[in-house]
Amino acid sequence: MAFDFDLFVIGAGSGGVRAARFAAGFGARVAVAESRYLGGTCVNVGCVPKKLLVYGAHVADDLEQAGDFGWSLEGARFDWPTLIANKNREIQRLNGIYRSLLVNSGVNLLDGHARILGPHAVEVNGQRFSAEHILVAVGGWPQVPEIPGRELAITSNEAFYLEQLPKRVLVVGGGYIAVEFASIFHGLGAQTALLYRGERLLRGFDEAVRSHLEEELRKKGLDLQFNSDIERIERQADGSLLATMRDGRVLETDCVFYATGRRPMLDNLGLENAGVALDERGFISVDDEYRTSVPSILAIGDVTGGVQLTPVALAEGMAVARRLFRPEEYRPVDYALIPTAVFSLPNIATVGLTEQQARKQCHAVQVFESRFRPMKLTLGDCQERILMKLVVDAETDRVLGCHMVGPDAGEIIQGLAVALKAGATKAVFDDTLGIHPSAAEEFVTMR
Ligand code: FAD
Ligand code: NDP
Repeated sequence: MAFDFDLFVIGAGSGGVRAARFAAGFGARVAVAESRYLGGTCVNVGCVPKKLLVYGAHVADDLEQAGDFGWSLEGARFDWPTLIANKNREIQRLNGIYRSLLVNSGVNLLDGHARILGPHAVEVNGQRFSAEHILVAVGGWPQVPEIPGRELAITSNEAFYLEQLPKRVLVVGGGYIAVEFASIFHGLGAQTALLYRGERLLRGFDEAVRSHLEEELRKKGLDLQFNSDIERIERQADGSLLATMRDGRVLETDCVFYATGRRPMLDNLGLENAGVALDERGFISVDDEYRTSVPSILAIGDVTGGVQLTPVALAEGMAVARRLFRPEEYRPVDYALIPTAVFSLPNIATVGLTEQQARKQCHAVQVFESRFRPMKLTLGDCQERILMKLVVDAETDRVLGCHMVGPDAGEIIQGLAVALKAGATKAVFDDTLGIHPSAAEEFVTMR
């Protein structure tokens, strides 16, 4: 049977664009449909604008410390609309780059919502297309609990386009987005409280990292409230919001920001027309080569409910393109040792096992930990401290995990991820000379 395309990709986000471009480069006839924005979540309402806002918030720290270095900066003032307008301009530029990348690779780009009609059929803007393979790379969408007044709350999607910075914000959640946005709002000057239903932020991270971050956020003046959950939200006559907590407290605010996880974006996707199965959490079930329950339909990225990070979606997109159209170059994605950073202020970054995981998996574990004041702060009275931690298998000497809380943690841990992938032992770390003076050198001098 002759198909219109060899591969039809639904969603031009991190995973979809990577798969489409490379498949076209391998000679396949490829189409990609995108309903909202080229580059997907990461470029438009995720990694990129988030990091730009974090940079903006970090300027506040730099300004505060400038005096210690002899600078006087009277009258410094922050203007949210300027930051948002500049951010929007950059995103538009990136959207254009994504369009050229796709078009120049020979991909047929269709602007519109795609709906699956059957195992080999898709519809976009009323037009029907057939394809040998369909790749679902539709990503996720913020999920807000069903509480009265939830429509008064915003999520990361809206936060990037607020017209003004709210004076008071309640951030709900204890994961990546909650911690990052609490840092953004607080850094830019909003009175910010972070409400988390549990006892400690960032479940799954090393316990020392979790407690260190908590201390540092408190030192900066963030109001952390644990075991806190909102029962309902109401708007008052003056436009402000009242959040009634399950424990009866009532908090007044101008903005309630929910970051309570993301659901797969399956709206009107037509999976039922082909019989694609979902897992118990509602994400698309795939095998280890990204095939769904319908062999001609594949799925990658956030919609499969795996590790929701851009580099993971990129790697999966690449793997699919290779397996289908360049099988001799196919290599499965290695999910071990995925480095990750939380761009809170201060940053967190980590690769490998936490101490708690290592103790479950190994007979003997050695832990090296260092807490110190960054050199940059020694001229003033800022008491921020860096945490660095190595988790080592005492029997083999292999470094199992590296963890950091502090400035540029993401930049520093990326290199250590290479070392861990290469199987570095603590002895190799010890043999490595430091770069002096730097914070990073502490990773090779801990004894
Ligand atoms: P997406 O990038 O979400 O792309 C899916 C695309 O499909 C979207 O463009 C969507 O419009 C389109 N689409 C959906 N349905 C249809 C349809 N029916 N027809 C046509 N098109 C459709 N990850 C990191 O690694 N580092 C970070 O710093 C980071 N920060 C983040 C910050 C925030 C606020 C958020 C929300 C996420 C962040 N992430 C980060 C996660 C990262 O953005 C995702 O893991 C990544 O974008 C997933 O890529 P994807 O290809 O699966 O889906
Ligand atoms: P996460 O899964 O990281 O965190 C969700 C948080 O919301 C958890 O603290 C969870 O608590 C809490 N929660 C869940 N449901 C409820 C509820 N009903 N009421 C109250 N609290 C609730 O999701 P995010 O939305 O923060 O981010 C989604 C994903 O996007 C991340 O997991 C990450 O993979 C990716 N991302 C990556 C970034 C990066 O690389 N820097 C930045 C931003 C996002 P509990 O722990 O108790 O379940």
